[in-house]
Amino acid sequence: MGRSRQQNDRCEDNQDIQVKRCIGFNRVDRIEILRPQFCERCGVAGFSLEPIKIEVQQVAQLVERPIEIVEYHRHTCICFGCGNEKAADWSGDIVPGQDIGIKLQAFW
Ligand SMILES: [Zn+2]
Repeated sequence: MGRSRQQNDRCEDNQDIQVKRCIGFNRVDRIEILRPQFCERCGVAGFSLEPIKIEVQQVAQLVERPIEIVEYHRHTCICFGCGNEKAADWSGDIVPGQDIGIKLQAFW
């Protein structure tokens, strides 16, 4: 991957459409949609289909192939129970804000 570490932090905030993108790579091998599972405020597990906010983060992961770029889409949705704005948990394989996945960081 011919990229310098200086090019990492290209995080853009777009206030109009509430999409924050942290783009560090020129290719994406896989896109993973992260949706909130349950609302800890009221316990309901139903959320709006359409997110009100999407945070996009590209992360280099160590996998069998041997590295793939995964673009995580973390959705924040409205709880059907109480109207709470609930964000999905980030995957345990990533560190939010960093573009190197947990398994790959052991080799960095
Ligand atoms: Zn709720």
